[in-house]
Amino acid sequence: MSPLAERLELVRDGVRVAARAAGRDPAAVSLIVVTKFQPVSVVSDLMRLGVRDFGESRHQEAREKAAHLPSVRWHFVGQLQTKKAAAVAAYASAVHSVDRTALVRGLSATGQSADLEVFLQVNLTDNPERGGAASADVPRLTELLSVAPGLRLRGVMGIAPLGEEPRRAFARLRHAAEQVRSIAPDAVAISAGMSGDYPAAIAEGATHLRIGTAITGTRSDPR
Ligand SMILES: *Cc1c(COP(=O)(O)O)cnc(C)c1O
Repeated sequence: MSPLAERLELVRDGVRVAARAAGRDPAAVSLIVVTKFQPVSVVSDLMRLGVRDFGESRHQEAREKAAHLPSVRWHFVGQLQTKKAAAVAAYASAVHSVDRTALVRGLSATGQSADLEVFLQVNLTDNPERGGAASADVPRLTELLSVAPGLRLRGVMGIAPLGEEPRRAFARLRHAAEQVRSIAPDAVAISAGMSGDYPAAIAEGATHLRIGTAITGTRSDPR
């Protein structure tokens, strides 16, 4: 087995273990492999290992990879400038970082054939400079997203801040998810959990993990 395949298996095992420990079905947790800073060959290698969903956080890089591998389900997970929204919607299947009205409008009705899946990002820090909506804005943005043409609201997204027990932060995200679901009953997804904290995210109900380095290694690692 290649080191890449070994790391992927290790994470898949870790997901199964964490899901069972939380009394959840491992099949209800999907894995998005974040390939930012990785060459497109890593994406192809992972496709051969059965990965279908990939995450990117920078438009330029994502667009280049999407041009090589258009059949991939690309998830845009990074902070997104409104002026780039339509360009991202052209190749992405999902955008996880929707956090403000202008971005909802920029992504909505861009004329794509299929609905763009979106996640409402909630800021789990006290720093407004970080991406994500303040929790007070969650109901209003949920209402806006649930009627926005061309968008399908899947649920919430969050990034656990450094310097706090991740499970506590993910518990706040779960609370935001409940608020969203009370307004938009189909929006049940929770995008949470990265290399260092995915077991805690699974314990708090994550349905979409965004895992990079635990699978890809850092760029200089052997594949
Ligand atoms: C980079 C990134 C990840 C993956 O992080 P790792 O620690 O490498 O697993 C997940 N989500 C977002 C928003 C990211 O930018």
